[in-house]
Amino acid sequence: MIHLSKYIVVTGGVVSSIGKGITAASIGRILRSYGVDATAIKIDPYLNWDSGTMSPYQHGEVFVTYDGMETDLDLGHYERFLDVNLSGESNITTGKVYDSVIKRERRGDYLGSCVQIIPHITDQIKSMIRQIARDSSAQVVLVELGGTVGDIEGQPFLESLRQLRNEEGHDNVMFVHVTYVPYLRAAGEFKTKPTQHSTKELRSMGINPDMIICRSELPINEPLKRKIAHFCDVAQEAVINAPDVGSIYEVPLILNQEKVGEYILDRIKIKSKPQDLSEWEGVVDALQKNNNSVSVGIVGKYVQLEDAYISIRESLKHAAAHLGVKVNIEYIKAEESLDNDKISHLDSLLIPGGFGERGIGGKLDTVRYSIQNEVPLFGICLGMQCMVIEFARLQGMEDAHSTEFDPDTHYPVIDLMEEQKKIKNMGGTMRLGSYSCQLREGTKAQKAYRNEVVEERHRHRFELNNEYREQVKQKGLLISGASPDDFLVEIVELPEHPWFLGCQFHPEFKSRPNRAHPLFVSFLEAALKNKK
Ligand code: GLN
Repeated sequence: MIHLSKYIVVTGGVVSSIGKGITAASIGRILRSYGVDATAIKIDPYLNWDSGTMSPYQHGEVFVTYDGMETDLDLGHYERFLDVNLSGESNITTGKVYDSVIKRERRGDYLGSCVQIIPHITDQIKSMIRQIARDSSAQVVLVELGGTVGDIEGQPFLESLRQLRNEEGHDNVMFVHVTYVPYLRAAGEFKTKPTQHSTKELRSMGINPDMIICRSELPINEPLKRKIAHFCDVAQEAVINAPDVGSIYEVPLILNQEKVGEYILDRIKIKSKPQDLSEWEGVVDALQKNNNSVSVGIVGKYVQLEDAYISIRESLKHAAAHLGVKVNIEYIKAEESLDNDKISHLDSLLIPGGFGERGIGGKLDTVRYSIQNEVPLFGICLGMQCMVIEFARLQGMEDAHSTEFDPDTHYPVIDLMEEQKKIKNMGGTMRLGSYSCQLREGTKAQKAYRNEVVEERHRHRFELNNEYREQVKQKGLLISGASPDDFLVEIVELPEHPWFLGCQFHPEFKSRPNRAHPLFVSFLEAALKNKK
């Protein structure tokens, strides 16, 4: 058998939220610095088919892939760290696995056998993983298993990954276990016991980790690493420490100091080019420049959980780094109304995407404030729809609204797209993924992109109602981007305003630390000019 890809499986232990996704993505970035082509898979052991129907309050942002899959936010980290576009297949869930197996059973594919977790579910999991390896033809496939070792839901996946190692061979599959080493202030020492326990749990599933990455609040010392190596039966140089750092983009550099790449390449027998991490070092350097700063207020509904707007936050950081400044982001909860006092100190404002009526009042107040005070405003998806609604209201269409929030409005300036009207199921049925947008010459959008046609990712059901298009245009709203057939409005602007731009798509999904998104750059340039 020819081995096209090698696999690095990343599991987590002790507690969740220790940055397993960032750690795995950082390993990928290190591999790329050796000229090794890596892709990533995120396994989410929950029963949902995808993340699309999950609340951002609980689960953070829904990341949309170019091919229109609504996925876990870790895919965003992978795209940003590895600088690749992942297909939606790269997010495997229990829901997808069982769905495929049940469909096959109904077709009669299992020829009378009793369908079981082992081998049918485990075979399906392996086949999905291998399919991605084949489709991407990457040298290395990073497979991150969500949750922590010991979760019941994760067990079929661990069993599949154990089998994968057996089938692909020891040289082609390695396991990296990411754990947490707590520091007990009262005792004045770090504790390795939770790491020992979770490694034991992993072993009980037949998996011996090859590397343990210890997350910790503060750096841990060599004797402690030796202790972990000894008790967990891994090589001493394979016990890696990743203490907390100021920026997630520093993690690849930290892991690199610990010689993670060398160990992995040796362990899975990959001959590589000499390392060149200079591009990433440049990114980290630029992100740390802060001789000047600019502030952005994100007025949204899901602000309690910062993860709900993670790609927007990162896009703002990338754009700020590109301009050599630091961005200070303030999250402002959109209530039914918003006092100008809450936003008047800010250099610029951004209204992100969202669903449901709560907080719309505060967003419309933000739009009005921006128009009346000439403060730069960036509206994304629902944000753009709010811009159109409030603009229409200010122009005399008094109760203008989106039919999402007021089906009886006299001025339904935002309405359900035609093809959405017959849809009954909520999951995966929005206008999703990459579509082209034709830009109008001489507009702010076109000047920012320096392009005529761009591809951006979408996730919406509602749209600027074409029946009101002429009316809002006559009142002064500029349509600077539309679908190539000119049927769907994609970008609106106010030409006389310093920077008032709303887009129906989500530019935040395409921003990269080494390639800031042109709209975010243009927005922050305007914010800088408006610096308070
Ligand atoms: N709720 C709006 C729609 O469905 C906006 C969606 C979004 O912001 N992603 O069109």
